[in-house]
Amino acid sequence: MPLCPLRQILDEARKGAYGVGAYNVNNMEQIQAIMQAARDTASPLIIQASRGALQYTNFTYLKHLMMAAVEDNPDLPIALHLDHGPDLDLCKRAIEIGFTSVMIDGSIDYDTETPDGKHPPRSLQDNIRVTREVVDYAHSRGVSVEGELGTLGGIEEDTKTDHVLLTDPDEVQQFCEHTGVDALALAIGTSHGAYKFKHEPTLAMELISECRRRVPETALVMHGSSSVPKELVDEINKYGGNMPGAMGVPIPAIQEGIRRGIQKVNVDTDGRLVVTGTVRRVFAEKPGEFDPRKYLGPAREALAKLIASKMRDFGTAGHASDYQPKTLDEMKAFYAGQG
Ligand SMILES: [Zn+2]
Repeated sequence: MPLCPLRQILDEARKGAYGVGAYNVNNMEQIQAIMQAARDTASPLIIQASRGALQYTNFTYLKHLMMAAVEDNPDLPIALHLDHGPDLDLCKRAIEIGFTSVMIDGSIDYDTETPDGKHPPRSLQDNIRVTREVVDYAHSRGVSVEGELGTLGGIEEDTKTDHVLLTDPDEVQQFCEHTGVDALALAIGTSHGAYKFKHEPTLAMELISECRRRVPETALVMHGSSSVPKELVDEINKYGGNMPGAMGVPIPAIQEGIRRGIQKVNVDTDGRLVVTGTVRRVFAEKPGEFDPRKYLGPAREALAKLIASKMRDFGTAGHASDYQPKTLDEMKAFYAGQG
């Protein structure tokens, strides 16, 4: 079974009223852990890589690790997605190496940097222009596209921006009609990274319902949706870490988002936390240990458990065999038929 188009995974999730986590990866153990979780819970899944991850893995390694994941798991629908593509060039490179989906983040201008190293937001018209270009290129190859309206705060790889602008539902319909994106990332008050909030977050839930009404056919995406569980942060701090006050989006808030119309839930930070906490614990308990398998192995196991619990919480579990993945050629024909 080849990689599955993101569009199909999210269409199925919309029909079934469940969410699908999109998990960020940089290395073999993370990919294996996520695959293990998907097998254990019979879940379709989205694996995503950012520009930073592609650089870290030198593109080729990530490509072949993903091919191994598919070969090893022929019965699971797996989409491979580029997270926060900054421009058409990187989207093209990702498509070349086999990604079945790309995000073009036209909401901020990655080419411009303010003196303090931040990227400014783009105008709606600019965002539409940049996004449309990627949609034309990707859809003619059967590849799905995610766009973003409004901007998220925080730091995720290199999406540094100070400007947090909630998505404007009036712009949503216009953006989707003019760009033809398959999925749209909404800014509803979540933020990237481990330090999202100082208190329990207030998210603009009504905004999700409003966007769902305006664009009933477009998948909606929640970024920055790690929960930053207290026990994972406590584990890191207990074994010599220093992460005071880290806080994320509680699972019930994500579940409410899914009920209101979210299909794709981006999770990166929680995976980092559990890996770091586990490695720290092994080092603290067995200071003589120097075989990487003895700390990366337990980290991989802990990550698999964490992701499996998310698959159950988001309602993804049990849906892996609901459908047969479409080929990119079939998707190409689908998009061509849309005119
Ligand atoms: Zn993001």
